[in-house]
Amino acid sequence: MKQIARIEFAHLPTPVERLPRLSEYLGGPELLIKRDDQTGLATGGNKTRKLEYLLAEAQNLGADTLVTTGAVQSNHCRQTAAAAARGGFDCILVLAGERPDMVSGNLLLDQLYGAEIVWTTREARDETLQQVVAETSAAGLSPYLVPYGGSNATGACSYAFAIQELLMQGVQADWIVFASSSGGTQAGMVVGAHLFEFSGQVLGISIDEQAEVLQERIAGLASAVADFLGEDLTFSSQDIRVNADYLGGGYGVVSEMEREAIRLFARNEGILLDPVYTGRAAGGMIDLIRKGYFSSDETVLFWHTGGIPALFAEKYRGVVSGEL
Ligand SMILES: *Cc1c(COP(=O)(O)O)cnc(C)c1O
Repeated sequence: MKQIARIEFAHLPTPVERLPRLSEYLGGPELLIKRDDQTGLATGGNKTRKLEYLLAEAQNLGADTLVTTGAVQSNHCRQTAAAAARGGFDCILVLAGERPDMVSGNLLLDQLYGAEIVWTTREARDETLQQVVAETSAAGLSPYLVPYGGSNATGACSYAFAIQELLMQGVQADWIVFASSSGGTQAGMVVGAHLFEFSGQVLGISIDEQAEVLQERIAGLASAVADFLGEDLTFSSQDIRVNADYLGGGYGVVSEMEREAIRLFARNEGILLDPVYTGRAAGGMIDLIRKGYFSSDETVLFWHTGGIPALFAEKYRGVVSGEL
């Protein structure tokens, strides 16, 4: 396997904990949690692992400015802004959506980290991004484009190594369940499961995409990760396990399912979930437990991917107010 350049700033290995009270409450399989909400960079999340490799690449290319894009409450943008501050880069974030009256949650942290923010619409996002990169170069700077969600082979390879980390912690699990969106996390995990011989199943709960679309994207990305690592492996859609039954009203539309999951993790285990990603993934996992999808002698590991600042965003106020 190739050596991949990395700048170490994540808090690793992240802890693996038991969730005995939640397991008992649900009366299902044994539940574990992998705490990637504790990776560092303003409360952490899955983008921190990806950014260790992306920043090393940016540095090796002589870049001085990180440019990336995401939604208004993007965790990826917040972690990129924090990584930029830590690594001595400038940071420009192209945020797609309505500029809110009240600055809160991830957006507040983006500003605190000194990122420059360029507003755009979802439709014009890619065009605005290219324009910002061109303008940054024209101004004599060296931009490095961090891909959407940190999900190219460079970023996603971090989750192959995260599987190695989990196995080195001596954890046995029959299932790994987590939120899957741009697909980098799952692509890396699938490659890692193969290379480091994880015997369980890797099940992504889709946040905002139909199963076939996401499976195809992840298979392509997983093949790219394997190639990047110098491994002769290709993946097809059938190798990728995705459940897209929990898309609800769409991206960031919080329903009682997410609210219940957030409440159950908080009140049984003292653990915070976010309304957009981990709340939806945990809600899906809880529903699958109730339907008997996992057998009761199995162990299910919920891989927490972060997102906590969104819990404090004005947009999701209803989730944590008395309405809960
Ligand atoms: C980005 C993100 C995800 C999705 O990860 P992908 O690699 O894009 O699939 C899941 N959870 C949280 C909290 C995220 O910020």
